Amino acid sequence: SSVSSFISSSSSSRLSEFVDAKTELQDIYHDLSNYLSNFLTILEETVLLKDRQMLEHLCAFSSRVEAIAKVLSRDRMKVAFFGRTSNGKSAVINALLHEKILPSAMGHTTSCFCQVQANGSNETEHVKVEQEDEHMELSALSQLASAHSPGALKPSTLLQVNMAKNRCSILDYDVVLMDTPGVDVTAQLDDCLDSYCMDADVFILVLNAESTVSRVERQFFKDVASKLSRPNLFILNNRWDKASSLEPEMEQKVKDQHMERCVNLLVDELGVYSTAQEAWERIYHVSALEALHIRNGQITNPSGQTQQRYQEFLRFENDFSNCLAVSALKTKFGPHLLSAQKILNQLKSTLICPFIEKVSRLIDENKERRANLNAEIEDWLILMQEDREALQYCFEELTEMTQRVGRCVLNDQIKT
Ligand code: GDP
Repeated sequence: SSVSSFISSSSSSRLSEFVDAKTELQDIYHDLSNYLSNFLTILEETVLLKDRQMLEHLCAFSSRVEAIAKVLSRDRMKVAFFGRTSNGKSAVINALLHEKILPSAMGHTTSCFCQVQANGSNETEHVKVEQEDEHMELSALSQLASAHSPGALKPSTLLQVNMAKNRCSILDYDVVLMDTPGVDVTAQLDDCLDSYCMDADVFILVLNAESTVSRVERQFFKDVASKLSRPNLFILNNRWDKASSLEPEMEQKVKDQHMERCVNLLVDELGVYSTAQEAWERIYHVSALEALHIRNGQITNPSGQTQQRYQEFLRFENDFSNCLAVSALKTKFGPHLLSAQKILNQLKSTLICPFIEKVSRLIDENKERRANLNAEIEDWLILMQEDREALQYCFEELTEMTQRVGRCVLNDQIKT
């Protein structure tokens, strides 16, 4: 039907660029690691070639590669949601997940930081306090995250909501969604903000379209903008279904007013965008609740206005996904690419070249000695030569990848 076709047009293709790039980079680091361990075996097993200094060198390279590979496997795209209590942060996250996962109800407020993410392989779905080992059922979330429940957690707690990878497509793309306690609370939790949110690639300010931006919200984002140079900031004027149904004839006027205030906030007060046009494109009027209900089947026959608001939600979803992928590629993988190149270059100049020289010298020196000894060394030389080809292959992979990610970064710069 027409409704289902317009519902399915979500998720952006650019999110997959991040996932693909991650797989490629992991392959590169994997190859590099294999290469180093082969080299290590040669050095350790051949008495004649044993060289303590080279061994130490090689081990140092190995641990650098392992350390980066570990960081790389944890790299994900992160979106953080802010706004006053009850503006609909949890509702927006639920709409993006196509399912009501986070507790979001009249009078309900999230009392702590809630990180929704895909679970690790072989893990079942569970909720977990970051610092603790206990795995709890998803159904415990409502109690845990509620500010009103007797078992409520401290606002500074980080709750991890680990979902099955295939349950929500956005999580399958390695996106992490961070819900925060109301801005009034969050602002006082400076440490948490630094450790849980400042590594976000995209920040989303969820406003209540029925009211105006509060002083606390302004001040909060001034603090964020002072910590990060030009954060990617999107503004959602949520509950637009309510706000625009109050006085339908006033809708455009109210919208214009919102736009003007939000543009002013983004350009003049925060300085995160340099032109009104840029800021304009990052402000949306949506209804998260309707979007969720369309996606989970509670609304089957949306009115024209509801459809319009949903289109706007899709536009928001598409825009922030693209921005997320571009930003994360640049900030997360750029450094790993550079490191890989540096390691390869150093490896070549400090280890491979001296090693080949040493082997050649050994062959010359042993010309007069037993033939089978020569044969053994020559075998190693052939192996090294093969390894050198593997190394060359690593270089080529890296160069190709650098060009691609580089292009992506360049496109981004042209746009901004
Ligand atoms: P949070 O505290 O910012 O996470 O806000 P919640 O997501 O818990 O939302 C607070 C209340 O507003 C809940 O009752 C939601 O169902 C409701 N709500 C959220 N978004 C919308 C919306 O777009 N339209 C309407 N009508 N209600 C909404």
